[in-house]
Amino acid sequence: MLIRAFALLVLLQVYATTIFAQPPELSGVVTANGDATASRFFAGASRNNGERYALEFNFDEAIDIDVKIDIEVSHQGSSGNIFLLILWNDTFFMRDQLGAYQPWNLQLDTLSPAISEAALTDSYTIKIADDLAFGPIGVSGVTLKIYAAYNSIKNPGDLIYTGNPLSVVINTRQTSENCAKALYSDFPAPSSVDSVHRYYNFSWQNDPFLCTNVYGDVPQEISSKVRAGLQFTTQKLGLLAPFNGFLLNFNLNNKDEYISAVCETFAKPNEPKALCIRDTPPLNYGRAGGGAGHEGIFNGGGSENSINAYYEQSVFWQEAGYSSEEAMREWYAKEIAKVSVHEFFHAHQQTLMWYFEDKKQFGIPISLSDNIASYRNANKQHDKVFYTPRWIEEGFAEFAAHFLMQQYDPSGPERKNIITMLDLLLYGIEVSTSRGDVISLGDYEYETEIDLVNSENNPTGIPRNIRGVFDLGEWAAIYLWNKDPKNLQGILVDYWKNWGEQENAHPRQGWKYSFEKTFGLSIEDFYVEFDAFMKKPRDEILAILKTNEQVSTATFTPASR
Ligand SMILES: [Zn+2]
Repeated sequence: MLIRAFALLVLLQVYATTIFAQPPELSGVVTANGDATASRFFAGASRNNGERYALEFNFDEAIDIDVKIDIEVSHQGSSGNIFLLILWNDTFFMRDQLGAYQPWNLQLDTLSPAISEAALTDSYTIKIADDLAFGPIGVSGVTLKIYAAYNSIKNPGDLIYTGNPLSVVINTRQTSENCAKALYSDFPAPSSVDSVHRYYNFSWQNDPFLCTNVYGDVPQEISSKVRAGLQFTTQKLGLLAPFNGFLLNFNLNNKDEYISAVCETFAKPNEPKALCIRDTPPLNYGRAGGGAGHEGIFNGGGSENSINAYYEQSVFWQEAGYSSEEAMREWYAKEIAKVSVHEFFHAHQQTLMWYFEDKKQFGIPISLSDNIASYRNANKQHDKVFYTPRWIEEGFAEFAAHFLMQQYDPSGPERKNIITMLDLLLYGIEVSTSRGDVISLGDYEYETEIDLVNSENNPTGIPRNIRGVFDLGEWAAIYLWNKDPKNLQGILVDYWKNWGEQENAHPRQGWKYSFEKTFGLSIEDFYVEFDAFMKKPRDEILAILKTNEQVSTATFTPASR
């Protein structure tokens, strides 16, 4: 870490200002004393000398990072200082007047300027990196956050700065020999066995990797957002197994090539590839899914996410209520990245369920491998949970996707979307209740035949119109977080970590015991408490939803290997 820090400090030297296109404006300019300001900040990172700015870069791509500050008229001509800061992992580095970067301890009195001026001019353009590839100097798998600030003698003690920094993602190295390839064709011999689990060591355990594999015509703004969102997510949640995300436009020319890659990457034990290719449904509808199931964990986890809704909606941007086609496209690029994070979370959930931290081995319940039929509701008995209740699986994934995308980009639409979803949910509950159908979170435990609660299992026989597993499940997570701040750790990491040990102690009921261990109450008691909460007036329900600020500053500990 120290050596890497020095490498960064040495190579990020000052560069002469050159002419470049104006980078995008940063929103959220703030002043330390709360006054309004007309000053503006711009920043961007580019792989083509400022021709086009992007969020995410490959390990060995040479990039430029440009910052521009427009100083408000009343401060021009006064003496002042320009400050530049880079947040790398958990450390701030400030640029000194020689152009080198020094660690900063967050104390204002030790903050030193990059430029000190007797008379501030109207505008400053500063190049932070000039054709620099970050990966080879030891900076990769990270999001760099770049802040700019200045002060003026006109407002003593005030600091004008970018509240929302420029985020630049530098990907880990993605080698073609790893991505979209089988790592094993079957489970290796177990390292050990007990009465409940078989335990395995995998060759990739010390070096899990993240791959985003793009197939077909996918606009770069989408693939960049997805890559950056996933990179950010793995930094936050931890990565314990390889993950292959497939992002595609299903109108691709060579579908066979794509299906072949998917079949190879997500091979089932000893399944002939030709059989997988034969059984893969045709790629003619938009779909998204992800996981790291008990059958294929030897190759890690993965997801598939098609972007075709992005094209379909573009024709209807006016009808769909967007101000322009561009606004629609921007919304969908973010939404697709959010869906990718949701699907990644499914792989994260399952990877942690199998992982035994003490043993440093992955354990698969023998009953799952050898008697999968005993988990299935073949006769629609509607009485069995598979892995974990569906509302936990989907609800926590939806919560995590919103939470992580909000942290990644606090200016995004996540909070607004959660509120829209709540209104649809409350309307659905109201309509059901009015005809004597009482909805409970507990109705949404089951893996299969979820449609039963949409008619046969509710006394009215009329289907419900709520997305119980997603929306009610996400609000259950929101409720848990509000109930106890520590529950954020439980929702994102610990419930999943505890599952394996609890499953070993209580076969087929790990989900129930893990809930109680993680959140400190039984799942049955939680249903009673949460069902009562959802009957409260809308404003009381909405009052527990965290603000963007609270989400941005919330912390939790990633899963460790
Ligand atoms: Zn899902």
